[in-house]
Amino acid sequence: MRKYFDKLVGTPKEEFYSVMEENLNKNKRMFIITANPETFEIASKDEEFNKIVMDEATTIVPDGIGIVKASHMLGYQVKERITGVDLAVKLLELANEKKLNVALLGAHEEVIDAFVKKIGKEYKGIKIVASANGYDYDKDQFFETIKDLDVDVCLIALGIPAQEKLIYKHLNKFKKGVFVGVGGSFDVLSGMKKRAPKIFQKLNLEWLYRITTEPKRIKRFYNSNIKFMFKIKKMKKQK
Ligand code: UDP
Repeated sequence: MRKYFDKLVGTPKEEFYSVMEENLNKNKRMFIITANPETFEIASKDEEFNKIVMDEATTIVPDGIGIVKASHMLGYQVKERITGVDLAVKLLELANEKKLNVALLGAHEEVIDAFVKKIGKEYKGIKIVASANGYDYDKDQFFETIKDLDVDVCLIALGIPAQEKLIYKHLNKFKKGVFVGVGGSFDVLSGMKKRAPKIFQKLNLEWLYRITTEPKRIKRFYNSNIKFMFKIKKMKKQK
């Protein structure tokens, strides 16, 4: 598990955003994984996903507070959370300023439709070269289609680890572009689902808001987050 923490971006988010912008400016390719405890839990059990997380082509940022806290317990310098939602917003802002091409895949039909409409209204500089919901289309075909569309920003919202596996499978077809698996971000950014109120965000309690508003997440939360924290505590003792 330590090897994942070794790779984690520890800089303040503004600094990371500058790196991202630089990559966009220089037409470099970048694949970002926004990590929650669940990410590292799955990676430690799933060889294919482990390979993706460890590949030097991937950059891992600390999305969840559990990851930031665990890093500190293990003695790593990790400044703050860099969440999938924040990354998606930042990339849309940059794409808007620089008049870039954006591709979007994932979420339910009404969510992606609302999101595309919103982008059209609020980010007039962006050209959406492709968008598709995450249920009705062949996802490999989506990548086959966008590989010739000069994509600068590609947001994939299918949940962990499907989104990362899909991006990784097709990554080599692209010479440039920032690719990010953004989980449930489209649900929030489209306005279809509420993000946790500011106070929850400030207190790093978005996870609590999510499990109270969506109780079906409790099992998933227990399986990844609670078990994860026990593991970290054990690792800390062994240090
Ligand atoms: N999703 C999808 N196709 C699928 C399964 C999930 O498009 O086959 C979407 C789902 O609608 C949601 C996102 O993937 O928008 C995953 O959200 P979740 O909140 O579970 O992800 P997390 O942020 O927790 O990884």
